[in-house]
Amino acid sequence: MSRPLYVTRPLLPDLASVQSMLAEIWKTGILTNGGPMHEKLEREMEAYLSVPNAMLFNNGTIALLVALKMMDLPPGSEVITTPLTFAATAHAIAWNGLVPVFADVDPDTLTIDPASIEKAVTRKTSAILAVHVYGTICDVIGIQAVADRYDLRVIYDAAHVFGATMHGRSIGSFGDASVFSFHATKLFNTLEGGLITTPRQEDRQVIYNLRNFGIKSEEEVVSIGINGKMNEVQAAIGLLNIPLVEEERRRRSILREKYFSIFRSIPGITLPIKQKGVINSEQYFHIVIDPAAFGKSRDEIYDNLKKRGIFARKYFHPICTDFEPYKDFPIFSSLERPWAEIVKSQVLCLPFHSGVEDEDILDIAEEFGLSVAEVAQH
Ligand SMILES: *Cc1c(COP(=O)(O)O)cnc(C)c1O
Repeated sequence: MSRPLYVTRPLLPDLASVQSMLAEIWKTGILTNGGPMHEKLEREMEAYLSVPNAMLFNNGTIALLVALKMMDLPPGSEVITTPLTFAATAHAIAWNGLVPVFADVDPDTLTIDPASIEKAVTRKTSAILAVHVYGTICDVIGIQAVADRYDLRVIYDAAHVFGATMHGRSIGSFGDASVFSFHATKLFNTLEGGLITTPRQEDRQVIYNLRNFGIKSEEEVVSIGINGKMNEVQAAIGLLNIPLVEEERRRRSILREKYFSIFRSIPGITLPIKQKGVINSEQYFHIVIDPAAFGKSRDEIYDNLKKRGIFARKYFHPICTDFEPYKDFPIFSSLERPWAEIVKSQVLCLPFHSGVEDEDILDIAEEFGLSVAEVAQH
């Protein structure tokens, strides 16, 4: 039994291998600005994610900022996104001088609902920033159809879906760009880090410049860039973590099955949907607790687990439209009442990583009213 038990645990390469990577960096004296580790990791990312262009960043938020900046959207235009996401998604829109407009989530997938997007479209809409959430992927076909109808750009916040595929196609290949986060809490980490993938070769130079202050050459600054560069130590950690990802994903998928067998039989608990033809990234495992049907609220469960040293997380509660900067922004919905407003107080992410042991699962199951004997039967 491992306590405290957190919702995730960072993938950590063997310390001796880190030391030899550091020795290599010290030998060259190249610490950042596209050093050898950085270049190697970018090529490995393109191969691993099967995308033509992958560009590294110092974190996912700066990568989101740059992905939007790259689109050169009209100032003050509207970008439709989901309220059920991390604050960085909405902030990246606002920080670019654009207006976030929130559309509801689909009750089955909890990803942005194309019909709700359509309700939010105005003459000022310029793009959609959709989020693949927990590990569930968006309705990429439905979103693209809306985008095509209104001539909108599509960017995916893919922070939760590193390595996911749909019918064999890389998740990073949909839309005009996808943005990944390599923060310590994510399945694959570079301590902090991020990545933009794009299908278009022409984007490379634009992103390259924006990532480095807009500098094109020693005497030319061609765009309003930022410092988004990943350093060599981050890249080294990435190179060492890549070979560890598949094993971590495999162990999480086994844990997913264990959670499924336990929770399947409990009334009032909704499990994540299994998407046909999709290989799940295994970022998070979320459940939705309907207090009327289950008999206890999400917050009660959350508090009780905490008392046992088990730190589940209420991702994403509060939602973006509850935050000060976006307070009173409406949520456009194809339903009578936005599902995001309901599910935000019902969703709970359970500890989900290779450090979760069977005894931990028993403890969690007990909190949901199952005895050891009952769990053993599943
Ligand atoms: C983690 C995360 C980000 C931000 O990434 P950082 O690398 O921490 O800046 C953005 N969006 C979502 C959905 C995330 O989970």
